[in-house]
Amino acid sequence: MKNLQRTSEEWKRLLTKSGVKPTKSMGQNFLTETRVVEEIVEAAGVVPGDLVIEIGPGMGILTRQLLTAGAEVIGVELDRELAVLLRKDLAGIDTFTLVEQDARYLDPAAITGGRDYQVVANLPYSVASVILRNLMESSQPPTSMTVMVQKEVAERMTADPGDMSLLSLATDLYTEAEIVLIVPKEVFLPPPKIESAVVRLVTRPGLPGSHESRERMFALATMAFQRKRKTLGNGLSMGLGIPKADIDMILHGVDIDATRRPQTLGVAEWIRIAEALP
Ligand code: SAM
Repeated sequence: MKNLQRTSEEWKRLLTKSGVKPTKSMGQNFLTETRVVEEIVEAAGVVPGDLVIEIGPGMGILTRQLLTAGAEVIGVELDRELAVLLRKDLAGIDTFTLVEQDARYLDPAAITGGRDYQVVANLPYSVASVILRNLMESSQPPTSMTVMVQKEVAERMTADPGDMSLLSLATDLYTEAEIVLIVPKEVFLPPPKIESAVVRLVTRPGLPGSHESRERMFALATMAFQRKRKTLGNGLSMGLGIPKADIDMILHGVDIDATRRPQTLGVAEWIRIAEALP
């Protein structure tokens, strides 16, 4: 595949010349350093012929790097003005298609024709976790996702028991996740307030528990995290309206100490609780 990439200076000039006014509500912090997109595509392990869904291609800096690596790219962009610009800019490249849609409601099966795909993206930060969750729960989840998010979100996603949250629980349920790159603010236009990080999430082949027990797990964990200063026994008893002694007995039955805090539990333990509770 021929090199479609532009230099960092060319990207900065193009952004200024295009008249695009980046909006905060759409998380428009554009990358301008080619070195960073090279690193993202390398971390994603893209090889020629791979199908990649890129959420929010924007001006296309990452898109061009993916195409250069030989990927077939489907961009999903919500901003009408950017979509028009990008279609024009990449006209004639038959390995690129653009879908104008809100990625929070994307049904990947409808655009991949059932083919395996991975996701590579510099995500709009305010809706990043909603987009990731929608993809993981879709009828055709990606094989992997290599995505840029705020550094603190990346840290929460990859947290271990002791520092768990609903986000790390969901991440760990569906994927094996690691932070592969820390990205400074200065490589974006406009620069965001805080540092960013690229997380690589590899989809787990089989999920623990039944669909029903996973749904129940999230409902219980949400309840417990809403009262995360309380012990697990107290939090669940209050949330479910079940006497504390009964909850303690159920937790004891699945070998979980009722005095623990919700942030100390891993996915397997939550599934055990979900399957034991009435
Ligand atoms: N990929 C480009 C880059 O790295 O420079 C742009 C990344 S920018 C952080 C996020 C992009 O997502 C913007 O192009 C924005 O318009 C788009 N976007 C925002 N919300 C979206 C949504 N709900 N669905 C799809 N795209 C969205």
